[in-house]
Amino acid sequence: MNKTANMVIIGGGISGCSIAYNLAKKGIKDIVVIEKQYLTSGSTGRCGAGIRMQWGTERNCLLSKMAVEFFENANEELGADHDIEFKQGGYLIVAATEKEVEQFKKNVVLQNSLGIPSVYLSPKEAKEIIPHMDETKILGATFCPRDGHLNPFHTTEAFAHAAKRLGVKFMTYTTVTGITTENGKVTGVQTDKGYISTPIVVNAAGGYSKIIGQMAGVEVPVYAQRHQILVTEAVEPLQGPMYMGFALNIYCQQSPHGSFIMGRGDDNEPTDLRITSSWEFMEEMAKTCCELLPLLSKLRIVRQWAGLYTMTADAHPIYGGVKELEGFYLACGFSGHGFMLGPATGLLMAETILGEPASIPIDNLDRDRFARGELIFEPSVV
Ligand code: FAD
Repeated sequence: MNKTANMVIIGGGISGCSIAYNLAKKGIKDIVVIEKQYLTSGSTGRCGAGIRMQWGTERNCLLSKMAVEFFENANEELGADHDIEFKQGGYLIVAATEKEVEQFKKNVVLQNSLGIPSVYLSPKEAKEIIPHMDETKILGATFCPRDGHLNPFHTTEAFAHAAKRLGVKFMTYTTVTGITTENGKVTGVQTDKGYISTPIVVNAAGGYSKIIGQMAGVEVPVYAQRHQILVTEAVEPLQGPMYMGFALNIYCQQSPHGSFIMGRGDDNEPTDLRITSSWEFMEEMAKTCCELLPLLSKLRIVRQWAGLYTMTADAHPIYGGVKELEGFYLACGFSGHGFMLGPATGLLMAETILGEPASIPIDNLDRDRFARGELIFEPSVV
């Protein structure tokens, strides 16, 4: 085990692995990633792995656009051993209220101004894209053909393997138990396997990032909330794009091997790091799905599971350092869309840590925006 490191990254999900890769690519040596279980054991390995550029704020549009452009060439860029399975079947996002119709039309104008090829559709046009949907349940929709989904395991593994080839060390089944500081600076990380002296620590611990912050005496304004999801038996190809509704509270995609994966949000889900499954989710999810996508009522559910959304008050991530502790950086609070931001998270965090100009300005994604009351409200989330 390393006794010293230039930088320690806590968390072996998409964020930690992408940050490690980007730092190593920029020539930084002696980087250690610490993961308490195996890589992808957190939210990354439990997620829907959908990626969309259709957002309601410029910041989220730009971050996800950067990610889509990266993923389009990621097998080559990362030298992936296994195809990351980026299927660009598009996202059909359905509007069910007049408020959503108004918002979605504004979203399309914003997205198009940023080079995102989304369009606004009538219910009839939407049905041409997903013929088995009940179009009487919606008032309109938006569609972007370059959105899609990936294999979260292969994608994270590709980042991690590329980082390893560049010299990054990964310590799995190793738990960070403390962070040492002196005179307002980070000095090291205590783990259950020993101590590593380091001047830089990156907190990419997903649902546990608040706890990691507490170890360093740093307030991290996020909370973790359970989010559930299920998968059906595999059937022949029926649906190319992701079907998503915010007011209707559903996202549903067909994976490359034929099973449907679907989830929904629930404000009443526990916020105590629990990732057990509930009957209520399965019942509500099945009901919503059968109403909106009636053909799927014939499918059998194979499995359900849960993971953590790490929420911020404005559904945007927290990126960057903190003023009270030099060398301590945050990459967390992804509010249910941190997988798709993985490539952007890695590059932007590497640039921030190295003091380079940011490829996309992220000043307003700092932790202190909440204390300043400068939240960037995102209207388009499940
Ligand atoms: P994580 O993947 O949670 O990684 C953090 C890691 O830190 C964990 O592996 C954990 O074990 C480790 N860790 C914690 N504490 C310690 C410690 N003390 N010592 C060492 N290691 C520690 N996002 C999308 O973009 N698209 C989607 O379609 C999507 N669907 C989702 C569906 C569900 C059901 C869920 C739960 C999430 C979904 N998300 C989606 C969100 C996405 O999963 C997360 O935003 C993303 O995976 C966050 O990645 P991360 O690397 O920051 O965190």
